Amino acid sequence: MSFDFDAVADILACPKCHGPLICTDDALICARGADHRLRFPIVDGIPRLLIEEAEELPADEWEALVAAGSGPKNPDSDDSESGP
Ligand SMILES: [Zn+2]
Repeated sequence: MSFDFDAVADILACPKCHGPLICTDDALICARGADHRLRFPIVDGIPRLLIEEAEELPADEWEALVAAGSGPKNPDSDDSESGP
């Protein structure tokens, strides 16, 4: 929980393609493209950016994570998030 992704987001990159990474609760996901959908686990607050330890996500799961984890939430989009 103590891993501060924002502090290191600019210098982290996918070790395989050097693409951008997004942060989820317990992993970093390479968000570069759907050709390789690598998930790098965060263990004890330390991201393991090792290709050998990465797992490849199913396409639908990868797309959902990238859509949910890319950049800050748009405050203008009040579709159904903040209902009473
Ligand atoms: Zn990559």
